[in-house]
Amino acid sequence: PFEKSKGQHILKNPMLVDTIVQKAGVQPTDVVLEIGPGTGNLTRKLLDAAKSVVAVELDPRMVLELNRRFHATPHASRLKVIQGDVLKCDLPYFDICVANIPYQISSPLTFKLLSHRPVFRCAVIMFQREFAMRLVANPGDNLYCRLSVNVQLLARVSHLLKVGRNNFRPPPKVDSSVVRIEPRRPLPPVNFKEWDGLVRLCFNRKNKTLGSIFKQKSVLALLEKNYKTLQSLQLSQNLHVDEDKMASDDVAVLADMVEDLSMEINDGRDEEDMEMEEGDLVGGGGEGSSFKEKIMGILQQGDFAEKRASKLTQVDFLYLLSLFNKAGIHFS
Ligand code: SAM
Repeated sequence: PFEKSKGQHILKNPMLVDTIVQKAGVQPTDVVLEIGPGTGNLTRKLLDAAKSVVAVELDPRMVLELNRRFHATPHASRLKVIQGDVLKCDLPYFDICVANIPYQISSPLTFKLLSHRPVFRCAVIMFQREFAMRLVANPGDNLYCRLSVNVQLLARVSHLLKVGRNNFRPPPKVDSSVVRIEPRRPLPPVNFKEWDGLVRLCFNRKNKTLGSIFKQKSVLALLEKNYKTLQSLQLSQNLHVDEDKMASDDVAVLADMVEDLSMEINDGRDEEDMEMEEGDLVGGGGEGSSFKEKIMGILQQGDFAEKRASKLTQVDFLYLLSLFNKAGIHFS
């Protein structure tokens, strides 16, 4: 009866379900979003703990089963089931998301949640173990990757619970982990497309130095094209002054962010260093130097040329992006 293609693995250990609800910290005033309620084992405990539950389920047979299970119980009026694909539907308001999801939607779902407004309090989600470890990985960890950096820009993530495959029916082929995702408040004032553009480039070859990544002809060609397009746009539309001002405002915000974060994650750079580097920047990228030299100059100003993405912190990436942007280099 369970469909593999829909990732249907039902939680059959009631103690585990209790633990998940408890660790999620569901409050009696909370509207909970559940994704993929299946037969409703988690849903039932969520209804005990929350004000109401909105559950999005793809499989009409499961929706039927859910309605049958809760129909004519005191819970019925506090449960709303939406039949559909969670990736395609508009999400309703929720305070907290608790879910044992089909693993094939892990990545798009995570970013869909993180771009949902208003920002929710937290999400407690069961993922495949390896995906979970990527989410929480730190610089220098084996699994540290573009996913880690992007999610951690937008949220604090922590590993809550290891869950063996035998807690499910039928058991999946992989072990699982429950992770807590807490959106940062306020969200960092970063253009996410631009951020991801830089991070993607750096992680394309995560063990190469940034120096060698940015020396690649294809990379330089792309960046130079962006650069020239922007410059000609600014000149021809006579927006030069405004655009410049906007860019420097953005950088100022970013610079604040860099300092905020460096207090959290002590990366060993003190404020004096940062100021010196900022000062150096004013004379950077002088007339007549080739585009490649301009890029290499930026990397050297931040001492990035010999560094590798696999070891860079959020602070490093923010700082690197701000250096590039200051010099008019953009990634989207
Ligand atoms: N929550 C239940 C439990 O813990 O016992 C079932 C979890 S099962 C891993 C995943 C559930 O998500 C299945 O009921 C499946 O039908 C549903 N599902 C699969 N793809 C979905 C999608 N794109 N949108 C919403 N639900 C989906």
